[in-house]
Amino acid sequence: MSTCMTSSPEKKNGPKKTPVWTTINFDAPGMQTDFARVPYSSNTSAYGWIPVPMVCFNGGKGGATALLTAGTHGDEYEGQVALRRLVHELSRTELEGRVIILPALNQPAVKAGCRNSPLDGGNLNRLFPGSANEGPTAAIAHFVAQELFPLADLIIDLHSGGSSLDYLPMALAHPGRSGPEADAIRRLLKCFGAPYSALTDGSGGGGGSTLYAAAERHGIAAITTELGGGPTLSEQGLSIAEDGLRRVLRDFGIASSLKCREAAPTQFVRFRNRNGTIYSPCDGLFESFVRPGQNVTSGQCAGFVHRIDDVSTQPTEIVFRSSGIVAFKRFPTLTATGDALIGLLKADAA
Ligand SMILES: [Zn+2]
Repeated sequence: MSTCMTSSPEKKNGPKKTPVWTTINFDAPGMQTDFARVPYSSNTSAYGWIPVPMVCFNGGKGGATALLTAGTHGDEYEGQVALRRLVHELSRTELEGRVIILPALNQPAVKAGCRNSPLDGGNLNRLFPGSANEGPTAAIAHFVAQELFPLADLIIDLHSGGSSLDYLPMALAHPGRSGPEADAIRRLLKCFGAPYSALTDGSGGGGGSTLYAAAERHGIAAITTELGGGPTLSEQGLSIAEDGLRRVLRDFGIASSLKCREAAPTQFVRFRNRNGTIYSPCDGLFESFVRPGQNVTSGQCAGFVHRIDDVSTQPTEIVFRSSGIVAFKRFPTLTATGDALIGLLKADAA
């Protein structure tokens, strides 16, 4: 397992060496804090870099490595706060393994309170495996995939609904490419212990361009989460994240002395993908009749879209075309043609 920041071989026709650098030596025991330093030449800083905060805890005993990230989307807060709390707890904890934490992975987006980067418009969770020279957001993805993935035995990338979605608290994962990978994913999902655990192929959203999809291609057990809705901090979502992180670090032998509550059984579900997602057929005001977690049936009215400039005609009725559990609904009332209004799950065998 290579742990030197400058040792990544530049393969012929392969990815270029990352321009991102850090003072952290991942092999050294103890706690180190620095940044993933992402070069960015701006009008006000010709030779500067973007400081993406990064902390490494190494127990010095050769145990497994967990890579924990949040702020991949800047307006999703439960994971950002949970990881900052975890840093303080791990600074007082003896570890058997290693934990690498980046709680504000797309730092420019976090500072702006936005999903995407204000510097280049980049959506970090749509840019994996990234690129060394196509803007700062792609460079962050490239650094994670090229330099941090090879260090990691398991990955948790914490997301929430953010500004545009109200989400049922859940963990998500790609199913794995083989039987052993599938078993490892299910073990990680059960240990994290979110109320719902969804296996998805990503076809409803990011496809293969997400952090956890890229991790699957590296053969790493990786999960992501959706822990709340709206650009705020959900108390329940924060609690799920804090408990889940501690259980995983304890049960995977990385920080076995961590105190945490035992997991309640998680309910395995699958996304219905595009067939289970209702998109707005027109611009207007979305009036929803359902909430996340609710069971709905085919033919049931989901709500209406009221056209802003047309008061005299009836609003457009939104009807479910399949049955399932509401995974998310759109958070803002104002909507436009093509916005995802509601997504459905179906129950899966455990
Ligand atoms: Zn997100």
